[in-house]
Amino acid sequence: MQQEQNNKPQMNKKRGVAILGSTGSIGTQALEVIQSYPELFDLQVITAGNNADLLIEQARKFNPNMVVIVDETQYSKVKEALWNEDIHVYCGAEALSQVVQSTDVDVVLTALVGYAGLKPTIAAIEAKKDIALANKETLVVAGKLITELAKTNGVNIYPVDSEHSAIFQCLPGEFMNPIEKIYLTASGGPFRGFSTDQLRSVTKAQALKHPNWSMGAKITIDSATMMNKGLEVIEAKWLFNLTAEQIDVVVHPQSIVHSLVQFEDGSMKAQMGLPDMKLPIQYALTFPYRLKTDFPRFNFTDYSVLNFETPDLKTFKNLALAFEALAKDGNIPCALNAANEIAVQAFLDERIGFLDIARINEHVMNGVAHISTPSLDDYIATDMEARRIANELILS
Ligand code: NAD
Ligand code: MG
Repeated sequence: MQQEQNNKPQMNKKRGVAILGSTGSIGTQALEVIQSYPELFDLQVITAGNNADLLIEQARKFNPNMVVIVDETQYSKVKEALWNEDIHVYCGAEALSQVVQSTDVDVVLTALVGYAGLKPTIAAIEAKKDIALANKETLVVAGKLITELAKTNGVNIYPVDSEHSAIFQCLPGEFMNPIEKIYLTASGGPFRGFSTDQLRSVTKAQALKHPNWSMGAKITIDSATMMNKGLEVIEAKWLFNLTAEQIDVVVHPQSIVHSLVQFEDGSMKAQMGLPDMKLPIQYALTFPYRLKTDFPRFNFTDYSVLNFETPDLKTFKNLALAFEALAKDGNIPCALNAANEIAVQAFLDERIGFLDIARINEHVMNGVAHISTPSLDDYIATDMEARRIANELILS
């Protein structure tokens, strides 16, 4: 493919974009990207869980074709606020699966959080829309089903998660060369180096203070418990078709090396840069092109030392649980994800302590009947059952 002199991608037409979860951390940054390159993108769809005010503000500013507010009690508010605009307004979770199938949508950015991403992602793939995947939970829950469906439908899944984007950015030109191993880097979160005793009394406010990234509440807690890295290990397995033995985690507190690939000759490639999610977001939306940006550049003199450490799987049990779930495979990662969603919410509601999250996750993972090749209905049933057990544990 050719590039123009000014390094702007040569796209035949603007890419029609749907952003599921436009009011969140990834969603709002994706809108910044779209605003910076109006000649490349045609924003078709934005959606929110329940943040009606921001959704209305975004709709007025970006004038998409469709908006969805999942929380049905806020439908009339959104509808009335946008009555004078040429925008279709829908509500409810089902609507997410419908709007992504619109003929004018080329790529769906899944920037909503949790299991809620599963069904709209399936709908988008079935409608042959490319996926820019931020919603890692979808691949954790049903990675096999999603990747097979994508293959059958000729759909590309472009990673948005910074580590997976890093791996993806290391792969062009290596088509013939198998990956020996990947290293996912982890910042270690706010409690890096803490003992189990110290973790016992950490607060929600402390857990919400991530050292390097500003993100939604759920992923921030997942980063503090290291579950985020566990979910990313499972995500990487499906995105890059790897075995558990080919995936390693290394703690790198500065978050400059975003991840590494090791090839069969021992050579390693890393992708580096200052942490900024806008870069992986836009790379997922414009692959194989890189857009010129004015983001701050990395300066070696600001970072004379980069550190790398082995993760502490005994203290941060969630990471060990994720590797265990990966080995058990089938519906077990789905159960772990559901338990974790319930436990993290309970921690955010200050109903359980920090260490209870891993305790609940372990209990649920061991309490769900194993299904080795689950159907979509099996995943749905596993998710419900795991949530039920997790809720019981929280109440007991
Ligand atoms: P967030 O909480 O900031 O935003 C979530 C978005 O999803 C919001 O727009 C919200 O309205 C919507 N939403 C919430 N619940 C919903 C539901 N049940 N149905 C439909 N929509 C719902 O989250 P985030 O930090 O932007 O993360 C989004 C996804 O991206 C997560 O899967 C996360 O793991 C992944 N991710 C985020 C980052 C980051 O830097 N924030 C980095 C890598 C991956
Ligand atoms: Mg990540």
